[in-house]
Amino acid sequence: MASVDLTVMGAGAWGLAVAVACARRGAHVRVIDPAGPAAGASGGIVGALAPHVPEQWNDKKAFQLEALLMAEAYWADIARLSGSDPGYARTGRLHPLADAAAVARAEERARGAADLWLGRAEWRVIAAHEGGCGGDWAPASPSGMLVHDTLTARLHPRRATLALAGALETLGGEIACEGLPEGPVVWATGVAGLEEISALAGKTAGTGVKGQAALLRPRGFDAADMPQLFIDGLHAVPHADGTVGIGSTSERDYDDGTATDAQLDELIARAHGICPALVEAEVVARWAGVRPRARSRAPMLGSHPFRDNAFIANGGFKIGFGLSPLVGEVMADLVLEGRDRIPEGFRPEASL
Ligand SMILES: Cc1cc2nc3c(=O)[nH]c(=O)nc-3n(C[C@H](O)[C@H](O)[C@H](O)COP(=O)(O)OP(=O)(O)OC[C@H]3O[C@@H](n4cnc5c(N)ncnc54)[C@H](O)[C@@H]3O)c2cc1C
Repeated sequence: MASVDLTVMGAGAWGLAVAVACARRGAHVRVIDPAGPAAGASGGIVGALAPHVPEQWNDKKAFQLEALLMAEAYWADIARLSGSDPGYARTGRLHPLADAAAVARAEERARGAADLWLGRAEWRVIAAHEGGCGGDWAPASPSGMLVHDTLTARLHPRRATLALAGALETLGGEIACEGLPEGPVVWATGVAGLEEISALAGKTAGTGVKGQAALLRPRGFDAADMPQLFIDGLHAVPHADGTVGIGSTSERDYDDGTATDAQLDELIARAHGICPALVEAEVVARWAGVRPRARSRAPMLGSHPFRDNAFIANGGFKIGFGLSPLVGEVMADLVLEGRDRIPEGFRPEASL
């Protein structure tokens, strides 16, 4: 007889979110990962939980909104169960607007958010001088205007993943470096999993996209409660300990997924220029990892197309942490209760 109800392969944010959701429903879960928790993309340092723009609504945006709205209660419960802090806070985000056309588009989106975000968060257009603490945190804005959204939150990815591992153990789950899968198996193996599915399918079902990131510590300025900044694709995410996560490069071609190089130096130099508080900020960490990107660019969730009694949770790409609370729930629905509420475009077949 099997000693566990379910096995999850992969101790990243998604494998552990699925494991925790199943353990909360009473299942005895074993997670197997030869490298241990947070060894892959989930060991990072950026942690922007940011929404898609509130327009042209679709399943992916609706799923993401539901996940972001769950996040506060979810991470508070993970903190309680694990006794460690995932670093979650809903601190919002500022985003400079380039010109009058961008301001008009942002105002249109503000009207969209009022409808689509169900009154739970705002997307506001504000004057740049309203956006930063004494100007030190205010990003330069060519139009003099910024978007301030109150939906965006932050967490510390590596700490959040380790907190998920702690929560699972509190719920009676096991995390092992090796072992044979028993019961239904959820494959949440990140980029290695996409390579494996591609090999089984005989075509590319997904690839890795490398990202490099850094942690900066501003000199003489405590950014901990400041909103995130999002400027020309660069994220600056203040963490609870006063460091600021800076991300990220996006590299399809790479030799070493964990090495940092001159592309990160360039990103850090840009970050130093985005607001007065970051000028000469000390670089306290450099990090690189590989994001799992499904061919459809959507998450890849559902029954495994090539294995019996098996499932896939993969394709978190750039928003894996933002989606993780809801990914855990919909996978637990499917695996434990046979209840399928996965959006059509998220199925593995969408990438095959
Ligand atoms: C630079 C960078 C910045 C990012 N910034 C953000 C952000 O700001 N916000 C956000 O939401 N997301 C962000 N992401 C994306 C996010 O990190 C990923 O979407 C998420 O971590 C994916 O989690 P995962 O569990 O699917 O994969 P991983 O964390 O990669 O986990 C997969 C695990 O599977 C294990 N494994 C592999 N093969 C096997 C096997 N055969 N058996 C068992 N285990 C196996 C690996 O050891 C690994 O631990 C960023 C990613 C990067 C790289």
